[in-house]
Amino acid sequence: MSASFSTTLPVAPEATREPIQAVLDTVHARNPHEPEFLQAVHEVLESIAPVLEQHPQFVEGGILERLVEPERQILFRVPWVDDEGRLRVNRGFRVQFSSVLGPYKGGLRFHPSVNLSIIKFLGFEQIFKNALTGQGIGGAKGGSDFDPHGRSDAEVMRFCQSFMNELYRHLGEHTDVPAGDIGVGAREIGYLFGQYRKVTNRHESGMFTGKGVQWGGAEVRTEATGYGAVFFVEEMLGRHGDSLAGKRVGVSGSGNVAIYAIAKAHQLGATPVTASDSSGYIVDDAGIDVGLLRQVKEVERGRISEYAVRRSGARFVEAARPWEVPVDVAVPSATQNELDEADADALIGNGVRAVAEGANMPSTPEAIEAFRRAGVLFGPGKAANAGGVATSALEMSQNAARQRWSFDDSEAKLRSIMKDVHDAAFDAAERYGHPGDYVVGANSAGFERVAHAMLAQGVI
Ligand code: NDP
Repeated sequence: MSASFSTTLPVAPEATREPIQAVLDTVHARNPHEPEFLQAVHEVLESIAPVLEQHPQFVEGGILERLVEPERQILFRVPWVDDEGRLRVNRGFRVQFSSVLGPYKGGLRFHPSVNLSIIKFLGFEQIFKNALTGQGIGGAKGGSDFDPHGRSDAEVMRFCQSFMNELYRHLGEHTDVPAGDIGVGAREIGYLFGQYRKVTNRHESGMFTGKGVQWGGAEVRTEATGYGAVFFVEEMLGRHGDSLAGKRVGVSGSGNVAIYAIAKAHQLGATPVTASDSSGYIVDDAGIDVGLLRQVKEVERGRISEYAVRRSGARFVEAARPWEVPVDVAVPSATQNELDEADADALIGNGVRAVAEGANMPSTPEAIEAFRRAGVLFGPGKAANAGGVATSALEMSQNAARQRWSFDDSEAKLRSIMKDVHDAAFDAAERYGHPGDYVVGANSAGFERVAHAMLAQGVI
């Protein structure tokens, strides 16, 4: 799904508008066929004008020109053999965007829609998200146009092994540390880690995060992104003397992020009423049954319509998005550009109070602008879904120290990190003259950290 660009973010004075526009012109000229990457660059660059105004050294130091160009891009062939003995060839990607704050860090996505534009937009976003967590991690993203849906475990294993046969040489606990994303869950991570161990002859726990808790994984990493997005909503509402208790919550997606957002919403006294997949959505006014949802989507790897077949009172709406259902809080947790202006208008018309992006860039620029105009609390993915990568950094710490922290300790750390992420974005928005605007706040706070480090480390 792609979107057009909006220029309604902070209007920059001449001194900062010109350099921003010059960089945008170059990025457009160099990457004309990468709409998602261009969308992500616009969103960041147009919102950091106040930072550049206060820090002219960032313009003089060429920070923008360098940031929009990945440090390294790796594209490779992934040949494998399916269960019928037929040769298949997919394309593999790893875009290592910035290592100024730490080893490259960011997930792998396996989905037929994956191309260089998608991986670059995700990698670019990851730089600022990771900076915002305050942990020492750089930004990257990778993946393949391989579709695990409908593939046997043996096919997925052969694909993962072939993928890692090339990628291993670019990874390492001090170099580049991948994790999961769409289509890359516990099964895929296991196969990828196993092949890395085989070809390097090293049990290097810290080179991958999201591992099984029995073999180096961290408690709460699986739950972290969904839980974190809901904690972020609690923080936003808390600033206005409100809370999640008693609220109806609309969630999209039914994968890792969505399932644990739904679970945490229940735990905090809200009623999550929707979930979706690429075939449509379900509504369950009594509250989504997390056990049944996991059974259908995680265990059976089935379609979401099956949930409505088995749960009385629930219904399935085919080929539609859940945003037409009245809710107080929305947590889009499926994919990019899954919530457009018409969806935002529907949510606003039904009185939505807060939106937190569990997915990366799920709202189009026009939808974000509609939320902004309507005064809806809006937590962008860079801040709201940062709990996943922050807990990945905790996993790296535990691996380095050969320790294992308890679930409760890890969840308490996640909660405190989400509060810090929220406060960093909230404070930066105030500092730069846009109080309450978490888009400006998250981009500015993340960018500041990266830009200071780039200046200190010279022209690299
Ligand atoms: P999963 O693969 O576990 O789940 C993805 C879900 O989104 C599935 O329900 C899938 O449905 C649905 N989906 C995928 N593509 C589309 C589409 N084009 N239209 C409608 N629905 C779609 O992925 P995750 O839950 O891990 O990731 C979801 C989002 O969260 C992504 O944007 C990801 O980048 C982001 N994210 C994930 C993190 C993590 O820790 N996992 C961390 C931070 C962000 P179907 O089964 O039909 O494909």
